Amino acid sequence: MEQRTELSTIGEFGLINRIAAKFPITQPETMKGIGDDAAVIDAKGKKVVVSTDLLIEGVHFDLIYTPLLHLGYKAVAVNVSDIAAMNAIPKQITVSLGLSNRFSVEAIEELYEGMRLACEAYQIDLIGGDTSSSRSGLVISVTALGLGEEATLAYRNKAQANDIICVTGDLGAAYLGLQALEREKQVFLANPAMQPELQDKDYVVGRQLKPEARMDIIHELNALSIVPTAMIDVSDGLASELLHICQQSNIGGVIFEDKIPIDDQTYLTATEMNLSPMTAALNGGEDYELLFTVQQSDYEKIKNMTDVSIIGYMTHDVELAHLMMKSGSLVKLTAPGYVHF
Ligand code: ADP
Ligand code: MG
Repeated sequence: MEQRTELSTIGEFGLINRIAAKFPITQPETMKGIGDDAAVIDAKGKKVVVSTDLLIEGVHFDLIYTPLLHLGYKAVAVNVSDIAAMNAIPKQITVSLGLSNRFSVEAIEELYEGMRLACEAYQIDLIGGDTSSSRSGLVISVTALGLGEEATLAYRNKAQANDIICVTGDLGAAYLGLQALEREKQVFLANPAMQPELQDKDYVVGRQLKPEARMDIIHELNALSIVPTAMIDVSDGLASELLHICQQSNIGGVIFEDKIPIDDQTYLTATEMNLSPMTAALNGGEDYELLFTVQQSDYEKIKNMTDVSIIGYMTHDVELAHLMMKSGSLVKLTAPGYVHF
């Protein structure tokens, strides 16, 4: 039988002390972490980049199929991804929690273990947060802080016509992973004796439950002296993100159907579920890959990057994005994005 320690037995301060003990400070820029009224950071003359995400049980995650360890990792990774998309280096996070007494001390420690693994992977410090009780479900808010150089920060509004459009990794897998998990959940709810059938879905399910921020690409771009003219992370789908760059840069873009990177397992899962892999890539969310534009003069350097696909180029069209189909027809891209309300 698993141990279950009630939160009330150690209290809020007991919990914070346990958390603090697992998160020693590792970054030279962190001057004060957990334990005072506020944390203190030495930005060393750089620009500070800040991003926050709010995750609410039942809206952003479902604990029926999301292990707390993975949830903790993902909560940090998606924030690091926003810092990466600015071409900055993440340094610290704060984590605020709304908890109901449904959660034991062990469960919260599992959540924080996922966060600790992410802090280790991305070399960041957890420097504070806030803890409150919640009457509904679990609420997690993560704020990430990063540092960048003024000249190399990548905004969404600086793409130019003729810039090359690039995307990292592959797209659509996280969306299909979610569909597979949702399907198994329905099967389980109908008959709890059924075993989940996810053996051949390891990649797509992994992409949904344990996304990675592409800091490896940020370091690689930096080493190659490539500064993206614009960059955004793919949280709502390729179409929506490309449209953000087009609209904010006040230009257009065209991408090519046969250049969009889609994994074999994404194709197979989509086919099996009667879904379109291209729709998953364009409008599915949560891939957390990087979509960015570079000047034509960087082509020779970009084409040798192993996990970067060149998928199109920016055009003089005003705020219009198009998909060139294999058939030769040109389709206007629209972005349903995620409607939260
Ligand atoms: P205050 O009353 O000033 O808000 P708290 O008692 O909430 O202080 O927090 C004490 C310390 O613990 C602070 O450094 C705060 O940042 C940190 N802290 C509180 N909750 C969390 C949490 N859930 N995760 C990490 N650090 C936390
Ligand atoms: Mg507080």
